[in-house]
Amino acid sequence: MDSSTAAAMVRADGYELHALAIAYGQRQGHELACATKLADALGAASFRIVTVDLGALGGSALTDEIDVPKDRDHASIGAGIPVTYVPARNTVFLAVALAAAEACGAEALVIGVNALDYSGYPDCRPEFIEAFERVAALGTKAGVEGTPIRVLTPLIAMSKAEIAAKGHELGVPFEHTLSCYDPIEQGGAWLPCGRCDACALRAKGFAEAGLMDPALGGQA
Ligand code: ZN
Repeated sequence: MDSSTAAAMVRADGYELHALAIAYGQRQGHELACATKLADALGAASFRIVTVDLGALGGSALTDEIDVPKDRDHASIGAGIPVTYVPARNTVFLAVALAAAEACGAEALVIGVNALDYSGYPDCRPEFIEAFERVAALGTKAGVEGTPIRVLTPLIAMSKAEIAAKGHELGVPFEHTLSCYDPIEQGGAWLPCGRCDACALRAKGFAEAGLMDPALGGQA
C-alpha cells in the first residue's frame, strides 16, 4: 500500500519509475508476486528483484520462527518496537536501492516510509532518512561529482487515511497490494489475516478515508 502509493505520487510528479523489489527472506513470499503486478500496473520502465537474504540472520517475526503479534489495540501498536521489526531492514534496502539508482543513472530513490501511522520502527523516521541522504552524497560517484542521489519520502507526514485516499485518487490497484505480516493461503490466493498490526493500521486508514479496501474482496 505504502510503496505503491509513494511510487504513484512520484510518477504523477513526472518521474520515470524503475521498480525494485527485495527478496529478503520474508515469510510472505507472496509480496514479490504482488510487486511484479504493481510494477506493471504503475508503468515502471524497469523492474528487478534483488535477493538479500536477511532470513539467514533472523531476529524478526517476518524472517524467523517468531509469532506475529495479533489483536493489539492502537495504543499498543504505537508503543515500543515490535518483533515485526527486521534488524536494519531499511538501511539494507536503501543501500541496495542506492546502488540500483546509481547504476541506472536515477536522480532519486523513493521509499514509502511513514512516521505517523506506523509501527514504531526506527528506520522509518525522518532523521534516519536525512542521515541516509548524507551517506548517499558521501559514498557514491554521483555524489562526489556533484549530483547526489536524493531520497524521496512522499508519505513521511501522511496518515494512513491520507495514503489510502491519495492512492485511490491516483488509481493505485490496491487489490494487488499486501500489507499483512501473516497472510493466509486459501485456494491459491493469499488473504490478509485481519489481526496483525499491519492489517489493523491498514483497516483504520481505509475506514477513516471512507473507502473500501479492494484487497479484502467480498469480505469487507
Ligand atoms: Zn495481517
